[in-house]
Amino acid sequence: MTDFAATKALFHLPPGVVYLDGNSLGPLPLATPGRVAQTLHHEWGEMMVGAWNRAGWMEQPMRLGDRIGRLIGAEPGHVTLGDTLSIKVFQSLAAALAMTERKVILSDCGNFPSDLYVAEGLIGTLKGGHSLRVVDPNAVSGAITDEVGVLLLTEVDYRSGRRHDMAALTAKAHAAGALCVWDLAHSAGAFPVSVAECGVDFAVGCTYKYLNGGPGAPAFIYVAPRHAERARPALSGWLGHDAPFAFESSYRPGEGVARMRVGTPAILQMAALEASLDIWDTVDLAAVRSESIRLIDRFIAGVEASCPDLALASPRSAEGRGSQVSFSHPHGHAAMNACIAHGLVGDFRAPDIMRFGFTPLFIDEGDVDTAVEVIAKVMVDRLWEDPRYAPRGTVT
Ligand SMILES: *Cc1c(COP(=O)(O)O)cnc(C)c1O
Repeated sequence: MTDFAATKALFHLPPGVVYLDGNSLGPLPLATPGRVAQTLHHEWGEMMVGAWNRAGWMEQPMRLGDRIGRLIGAEPGHVTLGDTLSIKVFQSLAAALAMTERKVILSDCGNFPSDLYVAEGLIGTLKGGHSLRVVDPNAVSGAITDEVGVLLLTEVDYRSGRRHDMAALTAKAHAAGALCVWDLAHSAGAFPVSVAECGVDFAVGCTYKYLNGGPGAPAFIYVAPRHAERARPALSGWLGHDAPFAFESSYRPGEGVARMRVGTPAILQMAALEASLDIWDTVDLAAVRSESIRLIDRFIAGVEASCPDLALASPRSAEGRGSQVSFSHPHGHAAMNACIAHGLVGDFRAPDIMRFGFTPLFIDEGDVDTAVEVIAKVMVDRLWEDPRYAPRGTVT
């Protein structure tokens, strides 16, 4: 069991704000500044270059990778950290394509654009006659044919929160002779995941959303043990080499997933993530899931009772969604700006989606009720019509 009142007390939550955007950028754990300051002053400041050995900097990506591995149900030693998620998508897709003769990558239009863009870019680089087939999320299962080499999917749709059946789609892809790359950006820390039980080939995700690692936190990559010694690392950097400090002139891949490391790890970001993982180490993901469902069901009921103008844009059944819920409104962008001005932070996804993330580590029933009150005020008073709420920032 997890005591969510206790975990809430471990975060910096500005007063007067209900933060339903922890699925985009998780809030700051109170311990993070001290942990980063220690790395800055004690490790970088005092140990200087010696900190690579003395403070264990070089092992951070694998050590923290294992702590994330627990959250995604990976076998120990098969997750590493580094770079951004887009880069990890590139690496895993390139490795998967190198393991098959087939040329078709299958994805869906609910996938995050960066994942699709990376696939396009990789196809252009390979010049091997590959193609990207993008179908409706509901059509994925039926589109798994014997032409498909790699199934590239994000488990939870970033807009609607719709959740794919990772176990079933993976099994179907394998039966058809395809490999699977799963993006767990909206899964890791949102609910229990088991990449090992589902038999996924590659999995990737970021650590700044549900995992509260902070802006720019490193991404993670999992390579199934059965592929670990033969996966080809397309970005063959020196820290993925078997012996980086032998400074050999040609590349030999490192052991297992360590070959997916590229260059120097972002140590300050790793320190920030470490402070957050101290919290995650104590958390029971089954409890997170049941609390998230309880909060979301309460939220949906409250919004639907008070805001008839908002249309639920997420699956109604809890099994069919991740830990976020969306409503559509023709003036969703201005309406979300009005919510934010009234102390409810969610976000907007074009064209008309108002998105709210539920993160039981720091969101409770009282927050849900406050959120519903704010949305009801915005809707009943038609605040989206107020020109103050019209401007759009670069980031929505
Ligand atoms: C958030 C997110 C990304 C972002 O990738 P970065 O390289 O970290 O900016 C990529 N894919 C999915 C599915 C996401 O949700």
